[in-house]
Amino acid sequence: MTSAEMKAAILHHLVYTQGKDAVTAKTYDWRMALSYAVRDKIVDRWFEATRRAYAEKRKRVYYLSLEFLIGRLLKDAIINMRLEESVLDALKDLGIEWEEIIEDEPDAALGNGGLGRLAACFMESQATLGLPAMGYGIRYENGLFRQRFEDGRQVEEPEDWLNQAHAWEFARPEVSIDIGFGGHVQEIGSRANWYPSEVLIARAHDTPVIGWKGRWGNTLRLWEARPMHGFDLARFNRGDHTAAAEPEAMARTLSRVLYPDDHTEQGKELRLKQEFFHTAASIRDILRRFESEYDDLRLLPKKAAIQINDTHPAIAGPELVRILHDERGIDFEEAVGIARNTISYTNHTLLPEALETWGEARMGRLLPRHMQLIDRIDDLHRRETGTHDLNAHHDGKVHMGTLGFIMAHKVNGVAALHTELMKSTVFKDLHELHPEKIVNETNGVTPRRWLLSCNPRLSSLITDSIGDNWVDHAEDLKKLEPFTEDAGWIEKFTAAKHANKVDLSNWIAETLEISVDPDSIFDIQVKRIHEYKRQHMNLLETIAYWLEIRDNPNAGWTPRVKIFGGKAFPNYIYAKEMVHLANDMAKVMNSDPLTSRFLKVVFPPNYNVSLAERLIPAADLSEQISTAGKEASGTGNMKFSLNGALTIGTLDGANVEIRELVGAENFFLFGMTAEEVMTHRAEAGHAARAIAADPRLARALETIRSGGFSPEEPGRYHMITDNLTHHDYFMVCSDFTDYWRAQRDVDAAFADKAEWARVAALNTARTGWFSSDRTIRGYMRDVWDVEAAPLVDLAAE
Ligand SMILES: *Cc1c(COP(=O)(O)O)cnc(C)c1O
Repeated sequence: MTSAEMKAAILHHLVYTQGKDAVTAKTYDWRMALSYAVRDKIVDRWFEATRRAYAEKRKRVYYLSLEFLIGRLLKDAIINMRLEESVLDALKDLGIEWEEIIEDEPDAALGNGGLGRLAACFMESQATLGLPAMGYGIRYENGLFRQRFEDGRQVEEPEDWLNQAHAWEFARPEVSIDIGFGGHVQEIGSRANWYPSEVLIARAHDTPVIGWKGRWGNTLRLWEARPMHGFDLARFNRGDHTAAAEPEAMARTLSRVLYPDDHTEQGKELRLKQEFFHTAASIRDILRRFESEYDDLRLLPKKAAIQINDTHPAIAGPELVRILHDERGIDFEEAVGIARNTISYTNHTLLPEALETWGEARMGRLLPRHMQLIDRIDDLHRRETGTHDLNAHHDGKVHMGTLGFIMAHKVNGVAALHTELMKSTVFKDLHELHPEKIVNETNGVTPRRWLLSCNPRLSSLITDSIGDNWVDHAEDLKKLEPFTEDAGWIEKFTAAKHANKVDLSNWIAETLEISVDPDSIFDIQVKRIHEYKRQHMNLLETIAYWLEIRDNPNAGWTPRVKIFGGKAFPNYIYAKEMVHLANDMAKVMNSDPLTSRFLKVVFPPNYNVSLAERLIPAADLSEQISTAGKEASGTGNMKFSLNGALTIGTLDGANVEIRELVGAENFFLFGMTAEEVMTHRAEAGHAARAIAADPRLARALETIRSGGFSPEEPGRYHMITDNLTHHDYFMVCSDFTDYWRAQRDVDAAFADKAEWARVAALNTARTGWFSSDRTIRGYMRDVWDVEAAPLVDLAAE
């Protein structure tokens, strides 16, 4: 497409779709016009891919996830469609700022963190690989809350991304599916009729997901909850104005908010309703499509693979059995077999507080038939395996992990260590019964968004050096290795990183009014705030470093900028205290004349995908410091390595694989192993002993305790200090000393600029394996048993 054609298309949509004149158009109008112009280029290819999947009778993958943290879509679409040149030229011609347009798009924050972002990367990789697939999620009106700070405290505000028109979606009112809740069951022999007492409608909204070079397109289908009966006119006419709108308001509640929890289980009824709403609508839709093509349901596992992202859609098993058995009349055991061969389940956490359970009373009330079927599934599983006590339903609860396991043909962990821990801990007994079921599929990230798009300087250098095949064959990044021995090339690599750091410094100065020196170590920890991720250990190390500088301000300190980002779950007081402490520390430290040349603390609010894209390319040091055994994989760690940051980290999640790939000598390892953590935790008084043995740690804790960062309220952080002193489940104190040592190794390494840059470049060269393309190929081979369509130029067909 030429720039002139692009310009004409933008102007056309500005006038005829957006209804604006160029003279009065605002940034928003131009962004919408550009989005429609780009979307037009996508739609034909999207249709063509869909037609081919039907025509070639291809097996499809259905990715069911309560979260899709997709972020902004415009730039992604422009880059994958290779339209950046014509768009940039057209905008220049029109006198419109590219940056301003991109920044105007709200982040679609339909997820909490890693799990939701993984789903988004998977959608993009599936489209890039030409794999016929569909993502199913909920169209939350309010995504993850927006974070603001007030006197350093986190304040949550609703995220109302749908207040504006959403350029990328197509409403599909014709795809409306009835979803029932409650009511009663009438058993007829083995089968039953379910008469729900409440019925809602799930309405589909489709967003095209276009792959690299526009060679395949898939659909992200998000469900909106609508009332069965709309506005009650008779009631309104009787003067009962509020009640007339009630059914609508009640129904809408279901798709109104994303639950803001990450790694905790709240057990709220509305959440269970959301889970069933999402899953039931998706299963119906999948069966409708299948039955439009085939007339034998026994073929389902050959033509459809349903992946459930964590246990949130684990009711898919019983729901599919219910339809096959109760509604289609397939024998119960055969129905279970079909469902199992179709469904597979991804486990994302071993944290006990995050493993989902539902009370039998609530589940029985809301889903009476499913409750019966879960007991029959348990019963069948007992007979199949000759066990007595491995039920999904036990102790008054339905354990969704067990249900997911029993109803799947494959269960996967998301990093090598995590998968091994699954086998030896939470799923130990089930694994012994089904030794073939658990497989590992280490997570990945899409290199299109997480390198090509977010880091244009480094991407250009890479492409200039090895060509652009790496974009969809990221293992090609290996070809950069010889360049890392070339001083001239390393200078270019350093220049790209430095320019990214200057950009970030300018942004920090503009938005947070903090001046930072781009020659400092940019040390970044961005992720949800959680005790297991140990932001407080990083804060303690920051305090200890600050105190050490104060003691001797004229020694040769290595300047650092400590950057934090992340949201705390609104009811997770401890995590919110960590946020508050970081902000209190920033206030004190950034204005300390003795230290501020050497140390700055920066906490930009509202960490989201767009902020990640801004921060990660400028990182020198990636903080991946979770308590070993607690982070299933992490994907932030991969994004940093790919962008040439060195990692300081524990042997946890995919850190283990990152270290293997980049080389142990190029990774700042510290801390206990998962095994050591388990034995050490059992030794009483571990925290007190660790504090007694490390005066730096003791002093840092004492500085917090005595109000060093909250003089107006010295006891403000007693929750954190008391917990670390007396309990410290996550081993902050016991790992601190080694963490400090590793941080000083970082200082020493950073002093040799050329060597640091060489290792940073090696990180980029050696982490192409973490492309989500590789992950998806793994699922295709080990879990889904599916092949991709040949990649061709769809537009030429
Ligand atoms: C990648 C990503 C995450 C996951 O980060 P982890 O460090 O793996 O927890 C969370 N949030 C956003 C916005 C991300 O882009």
